[in-house]
Amino acid sequence: MALLDDRLKAEIDARRDALVALTQDLVRIPTVNPPGENYRDICDHLAGRLRGQGFDCTLVRAEGAPGDSERWPRWNIVARKEGRRAGETVHFNSHIDVVEAGHGWTTDPFGGEVRDGRVYGRGTCDMKGGLAASIVAAEAFLDLCPDFEGAVEISGTADEESGGYGGVAYLAEKGWFSPERVQHVIIPEPLNKDRICLGHRGVWWAEIETHGRIAHGSMPFLGDSAIRHMGAVLEEMERVLWPLLEGKRTAMPVVPEGARSSTLNVNSIHGGEPEPEEGFTGFPSPCVADRCRIVIDRRFLIEEDLKEVKEEVRGMLEGIKARRPKFSYEIRDLHEVIPTMTDRDAPVVRTVAGAIGKVLEREPDYVVSPGTYDQKHIDRIGRLHNCIAYGPGVLDLAHQPDEWVGIDDMADAAKVMALTLAELLAPR
Ligand SMILES: [Zn+2]
Repeated sequence: MALLDDRLKAEIDARRDALVALTQDLVRIPTVNPPGENYRDICDHLAGRLRGQGFDCTLVRAEGAPGDSERWPRWNIVARKEGRRAGETVHFNSHIDVVEAGHGWTTDPFGGEVRDGRVYGRGTCDMKGGLAASIVAAEAFLDLCPDFEGAVEISGTADEESGGYGGVAYLAEKGWFSPERVQHVIIPEPLNKDRICLGHRGVWWAEIETHGRIAHGSMPFLGDSAIRHMGAVLEEMERVLWPLLEGKRTAMPVVPEGARSSTLNVNSIHGGEPEPEEGFTGFPSPCVADRCRIVIDRRFLIEEDLKEVKEEVRGMLEGIKARRPKFSYEIRDLHEVIPTMTDRDAPVVRTVAGAIGKVLEREPDYVVSPGTYDQKHIDRIGRLHNCIAYGPGVLDLAHQPDEWVGIDDMADAAKVMALTLAELLAPR
């Protein structure tokens, strides 16, 4: 085994240029989401590459999923290479979409420029570098170990940046991530090459609306301002809710440290007269606002129960209602995700940790992500719990201008992935 490990490491080193070239090819297909462009092109590109290595490739369109249309179809690819004998299946899942480039770039965001040992471009770090690393790792393993047992799968999936409903969630519903088909899942998100991400916190989004009565702005006492009522809500959050949430600490190893508490963000606030149409140059009119809405983004911990999380906010609103004359509100759920955390003793965790030890000569850090990613669907819809995120790239660079991935980091992560395949699938 030690001999195979050394040969795999050397093989990845020999494929460094191929790794960079593949990353560049993927970055040069701009798969910006929203709206979700060029998904078919990148799937065809991946299919061409992987069929050449003997993978069976299936392109799956998430028909009827949110965002799927004739103009912007939600294409996904699942590639599978069967071993010579029965065994377990190891699956690498990467999302193919990237967020918009935004402003502030000093290089072409879709050019894939190589400079100072880095590949630059939108999606290099999050997460086409990780996808390329998993492909090169699998190719090296298959070449050196053609008599492996079980199967290797690589998927490229749509829409992770917008919730994953046209991607992993759809595939999980169709059975692609059932524990009978797949036993180990690695998601090469950019969590740093020496860290294993076990899961993520939970999410609850809700809209709160306060009600008032419209009147002339010169005589506000004749109306009832929904904005002032919302002010009371925000005041109560400052006074009671935020200190309460900050005091709730989790045993989950969330990074960064600040996210080890419960958090709540007010994503938006809208009240009164709508913004004027673009191009309108007149003044607004004087009115008392009769509606005010906020969207809250509450991130919760594995120790918390979603029902209690919701009760906390509802209880706060009821408390205001009891004290404040004419206070009336509505609250509406928008979106929720339960926290997930894979066991540290799970087989995929132990195997990747061992491979990190062999490649980087150190123990990995175990982390949990403050925000969610596609593990939620694999865990909840697929009921497959032996799943982690592990991949190259510095998480802080994701979604930023001048995003890059380090070539050494990609090569090291590819070695860890190849050694993981050897440990799980090589015959002994
Ligand atoms: Zn990502």
